[in-house]
Amino acid sequence: MAAEIIDGKQIAGRVRIAVARDVEAFTKEFDGARPGLATILVGDDPASAVYVGGKQKACKEVGMEGSNFPLPADTAREDVVALIERLNADPQVNGILLQLPLPEHLDGVELTGMIDPGKDVDGLTPVSAGLLALGREGLRPCTPAGVMTLLEAAGAQLEGAEAVVIGRSNLFGKPMAQLLLGANATVTMCHSRTRDLAGVCRRADVLIAAVGRAKMVKADWVKPGAVVIDVGMNRTDDGLCGDVDFDAVSEVAAAITPVPGGVGPMTIAFLLRNTLQAARMARGT
Ligand code: NAP
Repeated sequence: MAAEIIDGKQIAGRVRIAVARDVEAFTKEFDGARPGLATILVGDDPASAVYVGGKQKACKEVGMEGSNFPLPADTAREDVVALIERLNADPQVNGILLQLPLPEHLDGVELTGMIDPGKDVDGLTPVSAGLLALGREGLRPCTPAGVMTLLEAAGAQLEGAEAVVIGRSNLFGKPMAQLLLGANATVTMCHSRTRDLAGVCRRADVLIAAVGRAKMVKADWVKPGAVVIDVGMNRTDDGLCGDVDFDAVSEVAAAITPVPGGVGPMTIAFLLRNTLQAARMARGT
């Protein structure tokens, strides 16, 4: 059996078209105002610079205002705090994104926590995490929110299903588990200390891997007919690959995301969606 390939690029394209349409409606409704995203990039990590550049470009493509605030790698904590406070107070800025990871001397969790929760388009502040845990409305982390849309597009039945998430990061694994729980799946979270990882994975109707280990998930870890989402992005000698052994698992799963072209494109699409949502929240709509 060859699995259906879940085309994240195409699905993300649809999300972006919908956001662009809604941005136009927002601009008409609010006398030409445009939702605005501010990104903060500390240091000169080339991968982070590429990510921030992509986010800014995507912003402009859907008609939003984008502004980037680059800071040198040795910026003092107080200066980053001052910038976050300035952006928190700026009514033109609806979304603030502090690009992670930060240089060693800065604490990403502490600084992210200083972003106004109403502008937390990455959904990573303690307030956003708390709202998600409580099942209350709020800004959701972009990658797990994007995965929920991929699962819907693949026709995955979540209610009552066994969902297994490998990886328990604050950025992805924990919010992913919360979203699945909110959709009434029975959720198991796995991590580096999980006993019999393969056995736990084999129970999954929906298997989501976010580890950062190339091709770790093998075909005999996957229940026939499962939906498999590969969040991993690993650079190998053969190029970019995911955490799932794609070719072999495709023979067992009902549906699977490729890497690249699966989860990756959803992250930026949901950042745009969150920025629009934050702009609407700021206007009380
Ligand atoms: P992370 O913070 O490094 O977390 C990795 C998780 O994997 C940890 O919970 C760790 O367990 C677990 N783990 C490590 N080795 C394991 C093993 N042998 N067996 C089982 N679990 C193991 O990573 P992350 O930020 O969540 O990212 C994970 C991957 O997703 C990376 O490849 C990253 O590039 C990718 N990613 C992609 C996107 C996107 O937009 N496509 C977004 C986010 C992340 P412990 O907690 O016990 O250490």
